Amino acid sequence: MEYHLKCYDCGSVYGADAAFARCKRCGSILEVKYDYATLGLPKGFESQKPRHRKYLPFYPVKKLVSLGEGESGLVRAGYIGIPADEVNLFLKVETGNPTGSFKDRGSSVEIAKAKELGFGEVCCASTGNMGLSIATYADYAGMKCTVFISRNGNREKIHRIRKAGAKIVLVDGDFNKSIETAERFAARGGLFLCGDYHYRKEGQKSVGFEIIDQSKKTPDYVFVPVGNGTLLASVYKSFLEYRRMGILGKMPKLVAVQSMQCDPFVSAFKEGREIRHIKPRTKADAIAVGFPTFGFEALTAVRKTGGDATAVHDNAILWVSQKLKKHMGIGSELGGAAALAGFFEMRGDDMRRFDGKTVVAVITGDN
Ligand SMILES: [Zn+2]
Repeated sequence: MEYHLKCYDCGSVYGADAAFARCKRCGSILEVKYDYATLGLPKGFESQKPRHRKYLPFYPVKKLVSLGEGESGLVRAGYIGIPADEVNLFLKVETGNPTGSFKDRGSSVEIAKAKELGFGEVCCASTGNMGLSIATYADYAGMKCTVFISRNGNREKIHRIRKAGAKIVLVDGDFNKSIETAERFAARGGLFLCGDYHYRKEGQKSVGFEIIDQSKKTPDYVFVPVGNGTLLASVYKSFLEYRRMGILGKMPKLVAVQSMQCDPFVSAFKEGREIRHIKPRTKADAIAVGFPTFGFEALTAVRKTGGDATAVHDNAILWVSQKLKKHMGIGSELGGAAALAGFFEMRGDDMRRFDGKTVVAVITGDN
């Protein structure tokens, strides 16, 4: 589909061949703006099997770099130690992706774009899962990769990123400091910058497309964990696009979940103000982001869908993650189980709120 890039803040417009991750004029994030009149869906699109590559017409690339990402299960939650019989609760389980998290969906588009634009080297900032995914996809595509990660990051994840063939640069400071460093490194060396930017957001839309295609009844609520806010913004965009194509009728309400030990998004939503940078103290490293890059877009998504946001204590997320493993055999890291923990938190506050409703919680990763 034909597209151009538009700055989310100042509205500057750039061509599809622009290889930078932020607006040249104001430094804000960019948005892929499609000319939907050029969107050609193949005959029988709606009856095709829900999987990442089915949605190629909705991505800004001609071909994916694919390792078999996506096509994850939408499973009915059984007993998870907490009775939820009155709720039609489903889990979108992303842990079976090639590198164990939903990030692979974004990497398949982002690395494909880097290749299309002629780059041989990429870099990114990461809290762990992103770096592992990008390193793996870059290696598969024959590209060099450098990952910037906080010195206090998860040791096991750092080890796995190195094993995937990437060069690691340890950064003194949190994730946002890693982002700054990676962005400078990319600009200086003329590398393609991967991470939570517009192309990744496009690839991650397939989480939302699959949820709609796999659901017999459109979900009333979709719970999504928020680190950088990209996944929530992606799911929202997929819903908007399906609505535009007449595939989706009613819009599900989006619910953002964070750890109480790192809740810049949730506190901004609750207090009706802008997001402020905070120091992450959560053990859920996948969502330990003090200032979400896509925070504003994610706020818009939650507000426009009439959704909600909640923060859950790390200990409660751990408890839910253990229950999920014990009762359903689904492994998940803390950030991966946060959305489900958020659902139980909200239901605990108001036992009747979700009765008779169809709820989906995204289990994002298990590293
Ligand atoms: Zn701008």
